[in-house]
Amino acid sequence: MSTTKEKIINTISISEIYPKLLNGNRGECAMHENTSSPSFRYHPDTKSWNCFSCGTGGSVIDLCKHMNNISYREAVMELANEHKIPINEEDKKTIKAREIIENVLSTFTDLCHENLMNSEYYEDLKDRRGFSEDIITEYKIGLFDNTIKPKLKKMFNNTQLVYAGLLSKK
Ligand SMILES: [Zn+2]
Repeated sequence: MSTTKEKIINTISISEIYPKLLNGNRGECAMHENTSSPSFRYHPDTKSWNCFSCGTGGSVIDLCKHMNNISYREAVMELANEHKIPINEEDKKTIKAREIIENVLSTFTDLCHENLMNSEYYEDLKDRRGFSEDIITEYKIGLFDNTIKPKLKKMFNNTQLVYAGLLSKK
């Protein structure tokens, strides 16, 4: 049985979802700015594409992901829905599990970041270690201490936290 991912790659042609394909298998790249040269290449034999200018490439799923600025999982879901490709049970479970992990980890990152911004270490990081405000915000640099776990435990159950690797199994 093929996976949803394989079904998508085998069923949906890159030329079908890529608007910028000129005649043949070349086109302008939608993944980077200032494209005046047709640096995008579509390779029908391997069902793949690449841009030799910005270095992106992959399958039709990667193309959907880059074009819409969404996650790989979201691209799988979107393509499957649009083209009425059934998602098999095993993939549904994997997708669900990844969603939980992403959710827990992004909350964890936010909590630690917020914690840092409200602590004395924030100034310390800027003044003594020379981190700029932009870098701290952009990379969501955070502070983990004993206030984080109780907050997480209020928002997620133990199974979810163990699953995301933030709590050890006991
Ligand atoms: Zn490009």
